[in-house]
Amino acid sequence: MNLLDFCNKDDPRPYVNKPIRSNGFLYATNGHLFVRVNDDESVECADWHVDGICRALDEHIRCSNLENMVDFSLLNIPEPKKCNCGDLDFQDVDCDDCEGVGNFNHGEHEYECKECDGTGKVSVKAMPCQTCNNTHTLPDFVKIGENSFNAKYIRLIATLPSVKISTIPVANQHGFVFDGGQGGVVALGV
Ligand SMILES: [Zn+2]
Ligand SMILES: [Zn+2]
Repeated sequence: MNLLDFCNKDDPRPYVNKPIRSNGFLYATNGHLFVRVNDDESVECADWHVDGICRALDEHIRCSNLENMVDFSLLNIPEPKKCNCGDLDFQDVDCDDCEGVGNFNHGEHEYECKECDGTGKVSVKAMPCQTCNNTHTLPDFVKIGENSFNAKYIRLIATLPSVKISTIPVANQHGFVFDGGQGGVVALGV
């Protein structure tokens, strides 16, 4: 497993962008789910100390209700559905500097617009899709016990070996165990 898969990228909270090493364990979290495995020296970790966060995650593991577990292989996890907004992360729009013309006239000369290299167009980040927020995957849900979960987190947890998840939440989280570690995932709207 790659712990970075369980982290975020470019999150303003630095502790969710890289695994954390503490007390013989490695932790990885994206703020919606976390995993804890035994330390492995080869894993590059954040160089800050956030022992408070690790203690809170340990506490979630300690409190997890592991009496009522369901095997992940029995869950009905849907395949991701593509949003019909397409794959456009960027779109071409008229260059502001030259108003889409690509050059300027000044005196006797014509000057190429430096902003758009004379093309009149610049590439800008496409407006976020209201439906998928540019993830290009439609949001969907998986039900476990009485609660629903964002399917993308359940698909991520499903990449772990031999996962079993609690059907009972404790403080909004459902604990899970897998071959080599434990973790928790936050239910939606609890
Ligand atoms: Zn231009
Ligand atoms: Zn979309």
